Amino acid sequence: MYLFNNDKVCPVCGKQFWAPSEEWAYKRRKTKTGSFYYFCSWKHLREYEQKTERPRKVSTSATGQGDEIMRMVREGYKNVEICRELGVASGTVSYYKGKLKETEWLKEIKEDQG
Ligand SMILES: [Zn+2]
Repeated sequence: MYLFNNDKVCPVCGKQFWAPSEEWAYKRRKTKTGSFYYFCSWKHLREYEQKTERPRKVSTSATGQGDEIMRMVREGYKNVEICRELGVASGTVSYYKGKLKETEWLKEIKEDQG
C-alpha cells in the first residue's frame, strides 16, 4: 500500500483531505522553504493564489487562459495536469506549449542582439 500517511490540510478552509499522490495533489510551493501547501480543490488553490500573489490583471478571456497554461508549462506541469486543472483540451495545451517555445526563442534572439 503506497497511499499511506497522505492526509493534507487545506490552508484555505482547514479541511483535512486525502490526495491520491504528490503528483496529483493541488499544491503550490511555499516561498523560500521549498515545501508545499496542499489544497482540497483547484478552487481553493486559486483562492489562495489570488490572496497571496501580487495583484495582476485577471482575465477570463482566451488570452488569460493561455497565460495560465504557459505559466503552468513553465512551472513544469504535465499536459494532463494542466488539462485537468484548467479544464482545457490537450490540443490547447500543446498549442500554447509551442507558442511559449516560440516566445522564448524570440526573446533569446533579442537578447543576443543586445
Ligand atoms: Zn479547501
